[in-house]
Amino acid sequence: MVILVINAGSSSVKYQVINPEKEAVLATGLVERIGMSGAILTHRPTGRKEVRLSGEILDHKIAIEYVLSILLSKNHGVIKDKKEIDAVGHRVVHGGEAFSSSVLISEEVMAQIRACIDYAPLHNPPNLRGINAAKQLLPDVPQVAVFDTAFHQTMPKYAFLYGLPYVLYKRHGIRRYGFHGSSHRYVASRAARLIGKPLDELKLITCHLGNGSSAAAIKYGKSVDTSMGFTPLEGLLMGTRCGDMDPAVILQIMAKEEMTPNDATTMLNKHSGLMGISGLSSDMREIEEEYDTNDRARVAHDIFTYRLRKYIGAYAAAMGGVDVVVFTGGIGENSMLVRKNALKGLEFLGIELNEEKNKAQANGDRQINTSSSRVKVLVIPTNEELVIAQDTMHIVQEMKANQ
Ligand code: ADP
Repeated sequence: MVILVINAGSSSVKYQVINPEKEAVLATGLVERIGMSGAILTHRPTGRKEVRLSGEILDHKIAIEYVLSILLSKNHGVIKDKKEIDAVGHRVVHGGEAFSSSVLISEEVMAQIRACIDYAPLHNPPNLRGINAAKQLLPDVPQVAVFDTAFHQTMPKYAFLYGLPYVLYKRHGIRRYGFHGSSHRYVASRAARLIGKPLDELKLITCHLGNGSSAAAIKYGKSVDTSMGFTPLEGLLMGTRCGDMDPAVILQIMAKEEMTPNDATTMLNKHSGLMGISGLSSDMREIEEEYDTNDRARVAHDIFTYRLRKYIGAYAAAMGGVDVVVFTGGIGENSMLVRKNALKGLEFLGIELNEEKNKAQANGDRQINTSSSRVKVLVIPTNEELVIAQDTMHIVQEMKANQ
């Protein structure tokens, strides 16, 4: 089976062509600067040379047209006929309370995704543009939506409600939703496979640490808590996002600095986090380069790992224990200093890091706890696209079985 995975952003479309049965990636690529000058398509067919094409790419439909034509092209293509695409899997950021799993896209599903625009005004509209474009260009091909929020729909009410008037939840859906669901789900099931235990017997804490970061408590296969909330601003410190803080702070700053709600949103999302504290960079590599010489870089890093350590402690308490801690995302997979500092002092929970294994330069899945550690500590590269391709395949197989 061949699945085209599409992740449509405001000015970009990322894609992968995947055979989910073989877990094989045929090609990956990215269209950037859609609707701007200098739009460019970068296409990487597996095992062959990268190709870059520039052109006038005014909207998402033209972007996906470009993608299809390069996928079919004689020199750089990976399929011979559009008909070889069995289905398209779309990443959709927000599914609100309507979706607790992936779903075949119908008109009703489109309306429900539209109804979630208020929750994710920057993400759901381009996701919808991607779906509309793919539907027009591949009208006979089933389209599936895979939501970042869906996996966390199993959170109990006491974990997802804020301490606000209940009417605001009922009227406006103000609650915690959580994000990075496909990543947390992927690494949790991969972790269970790696240690050879059933997922539904394990208590896991999964740490997805990238430009955006979140931790999740996964008890017996279900997400019972996660650090991002109504939006991806809540929880851990991130590259440019503030994470947890007293909500009164923002009201005070808006008054003192004469900020509009838009200005405040930009400050919290784009100018805070590692970037805001260090004044240096949102990129963890640059922060780490100056860890020993720059006080503000060091404190930014220390806040990042301190907060993660607090979440690990909190989630162990929430689940009544922890069997596995998983690190993933660009930082989780690569930063030995983040892993080391985040787990410092957690021996009382049964977490013992093997310093040598933690330091070893390695790729792929690996275990980095000591042999006496009660809790397993794993590094697992995430693969959200594979989750999207596999969900899409299962939904299409089910649909065909019911026809
Ligand atoms: P996104 O959330 O945009 O998908 P990634 O998961 O790729 O981002 O993570 C990007 C982050 O990973 C950046 O902060 C980058 O500095 C960090 N990172 C990548 N490689 C390393 C490394 N070797 N050491 C420390 N941080 C790293």
